[in-house]
Amino acid sequence: MGDLLIINVQIPGSTEDGECQSVLIQEGKIVSFSPAQAHMSSDMPRVDGGGRPLRAGLIDLHIHGIEKWLFESGPEALVQGVNALAKYGVTTVLPTLYRVMDEDQIQLLSLLADAVSDCSKVNVPGFHLEGPFLKLSGAGARTREGDVAYLDRLIEAARGKVSAMSISPDTPGILPVIRHLVKHDIEVFMTHTQASVDQTLAAIDAGARHATHFYDVFPVPERTEPGVRPVGCVETILADPKVSVDFIADGIHVHPMAIKMALAAKGGQGVILITDANIGAGLGDGVYQTPWGYPIRVKENNAARIELPSEPRHGCLAGSALTMPRGIANLRRWLDVPEDQVWAMGTGNPARRMGWENKGGLSVGADADLVIWDDDDQGLRPYKTIVGGKLRYEAG
Ligand SMILES: [Zn+2]
Repeated sequence: MGDLLIINVQIPGSTEDGECQSVLIQEGKIVSFSPAQAHMSSDMPRVDGGGRPLRAGLIDLHIHGIEKWLFESGPEALVQGVNALAKYGVTTVLPTLYRVMDEDQIQLLSLLADAVSDCSKVNVPGFHLEGPFLKLSGAGARTREGDVAYLDRLIEAARGKVSAMSISPDTPGILPVIRHLVKHDIEVFMTHTQASVDQTLAAIDAGARHATHFYDVFPVPERTEPGVRPVGCVETILADPKVSVDFIADGIHVHPMAIKMALAAKGGQGVILITDANIGAGLGDGVYQTPWGYPIRVKENNAARIELPSEPRHGCLAGSALTMPRGIANLRRWLDVPEDQVWAMGTGNPARRMGWENKGGLSVGADADLVIWDDDDQGLRPYKTIVGGKLRYEAG
């Protein structure tokens, strides 16, 4: 199973422009690259790329939902939503949860964990729990003091399927939580924080290695002297080469200049693209119902916004409506860096952060999580998505 021959694809960066190759996949892994004519007589199942570019599949480490599905609303939404991501060229995802860590919802966390095995079209190594040990709420995220016993309850409820947890360095009692996460091999992301330099250094020292939706819910620290620019967790994170950062590259949750600054500080490998997408992402312009008691309006190149014309919060941000291909397209437009470096922000860099050695790249022995792209004036969109050597999406 997972045997496939991909013919007629260009491998950007390795083949000459216009020159096509074949990729042989066995048992879900890339076995070889060869000139276009090789294997032509083989009777293996095959996919014809028609001369289009082939790249490693996209990896989204922070996403709550897509189209009409909010992952944490139940097993059905989780499975449908995750499987829909193949259409967006996403081959590995950490479904991100923020409300089901509440005491009265822990049972739902177990039901979601049990449903992961039905997410057959896209790899789900585990969940990203955004909270509950956060300092600042916002976008539905919960706040709670550090509590290792409660953390153990969450990990157990999630059947151990926790790949990352977002915490705030300024949450009281957070350091034992961070150390416990490291012990369980769970990546520690920092976010929802106004931490000081010292609090951030302590979190990094305990094992935090990444900041998620950097700049969004990272308010400016309190000023201590008139005219002196305050310095806090943002600067501490930028200054530490051990720590990577990710951005919602929609141009609304963060200014493109902050991404350029992070690239200058971290280099090409330390910056990651996420969507933080939610209900409405991927849908066309329109107004959509949500489970949160208000509808949202989605507009192209905008985030999702609350649609309640008679209320003051009308028009406020209700979440990200970004998709990974649109994020890549935005980064290509904004950043003056080589094309491969932009793609790495959605492929190799997240894989490296998570320690997934066989993902995020095109090499012999790598997992065959691959996307053949249409990339023309009509935009960047997947033509075929292959996950573990199996065709999981085809356009049209
Ligand atoms: Zn989020």
